[in-house]
Amino acid sequence: MQWETVIGLEIHTQLATQSKIFSGASTAFGASPNTQACAIDLGLPGVLPVLNAEAVRLAVRFGRAIGAEVAPRSVFARKNYFYPDLPKGYQISQYELPIVGEGRVEIVLGDGSVKSIGVTRAHLEEDAGKSLHEENLAGGGYTGIDLNRAGTPLLEIVSEPDMRTPQEAVAYARKIHQLVRWIGISDGNMQEGSFRVDANVSVRPLGQTRFGTRTEIKNLNSFRFIERAIQFEVERQIDVIEGGGSVVQETRLYDPERDETRPMRSKEEANDYRYFPDPDLLPVEIDVAFIVEAVADLPELPDSMRERFHTQYGLGEYDASLLTAGRELAQYFEAVVQATAEPKLAANWVNGELAAALNRSEIDIAQSPVSAAMLAGLIHRIQDGTVSGKLAKQVFEAMWSGEGDADSVIQARGLRQITDSGALESMIAAIVAANPGQVEQYRAGKDKVFGFFVGQVMKESKGKANPQQVNEILMRVLASD
Ligand code: ADP
Ligand code: MG
Repeated sequence: MQWETVIGLEIHTQLATQSKIFSGASTAFGASPNTQACAIDLGLPGVLPVLNAEAVRLAVRFGRAIGAEVAPRSVFARKNYFYPDLPKGYQISQYELPIVGEGRVEIVLGDGSVKSIGVTRAHLEEDAGKSLHEENLAGGGYTGIDLNRAGTPLLEIVSEPDMRTPQEAVAYARKIHQLVRWIGISDGNMQEGSFRVDANVSVRPLGQTRFGTRTEIKNLNSFRFIERAIQFEVERQIDVIEGGGSVVQETRLYDPERDETRPMRSKEEANDYRYFPDPDLLPVEIDVAFIVEAVADLPELPDSMRERFHTQYGLGEYDASLLTAGRELAQYFEAVVQATAEPKLAANWVNGELAAALNRSEIDIAQSPVSAAMLAGLIHRIQDGTVSGKLAKQVFEAMWSGEGDADSVIQARGLRQITDSGALESMIAAIVAANPGQVEQYRAGKDKVFGFFVGQVMKESKGKANPQQVNEILMRVLASD
């Protein structure tokens, strides 16, 4: 039987506010446990929550960025459940009337094709606290509760079940991650829990229109885990069904050490949560002026920029999507293009040498020791023939390790390409004269020997001979007599 996978994601992204969504306590990461939880976050009797306008503003920006309607009126609801890290016994969330309605984002797949994914809604809510499982001095275990996170503003972004492979799910999660950082509403820091993904997964026989029963894998905090967890879950569900069983709708946890998902609890239905409008909070009413102000400084969005790189600079969709993975990277690329008018060359260098170096050093583009102006300087020297592509890589490495800009490196290391045809002619003549055997082989039709001569010239010139000129001269010299 051929199976089709169906995936929908619920993404929780922490909004970049200074204080919590309903209190003035700080949201700064890394404070000692329970030093940033005030009476409101603890849900003490008699307190009243007050909505943080900045959280609303950031949610509005997101709505605009995915082309969704921002609700003129949305409502906070209490989601009731019992858990040690939830002091009030309920979480303030939005249920029937979320702040952001339906929208869409585009993902670019490995083959360069573009797929549109539906976003069902996005709503504001508060985060819960955190249970810390620790060892005590006697070697036993205990669990402590840290309520610093309680009341941290989250935007929960719910997708349509539009994804069909783990790779598509990762591409979508990356897309949302890119977007929230791009528009400055979240730092997206996955290690610190600022971006967490729940993956809903089901399978169905290929061709069936009805969806299969789904499970939900909670709290995935890396892109690799999202892919692996879904992959495991798909195989598990297929095994269950092919073994004659049926998939149970439940919440599962992914264990990266054993690379498997395990049941956590049976899935609650919405009515288990006894949602009702929070009587302590007024409905959120947003007027046009608020929206206009919130989106006034939105930058050009990544999809539009990607499309522009594709049409304006003639880059492939895939290259264009790599270059727009982050806003700083896209700006860096455009700065190089503006200085050189060489979009293809600039794209090759940024996606090639520069991306590899950033990766190796595990740093962001903002920390790159090679600035856009420096890379542009190097591209100028490739353009005017001072260095070959191969020498340029050496120049780049030298710039990367702090030896100065392209011109200083070329000067200091003597990397100027040899384009003096007189010098090349005599070098080649000497090499040809010194290798009569190979000359004979070449003339007898063994074309591969040509590469041997090129190699000799490069060795003799320490890689500095202009490759094109070497080819031309060699062809001529070897063909003569
Ligand atoms: P609930 O209210 O129970 O959380 P929702 O309808 O809000 O359920 O859906 C939650 C997420 O699950 C959404 O992202 C949705 O796209 C996804 N989803 C719903 N049904 C399926 C299914 N059969 N297979 C995979 N994902 C699904
Ligand atoms: Mg849901």
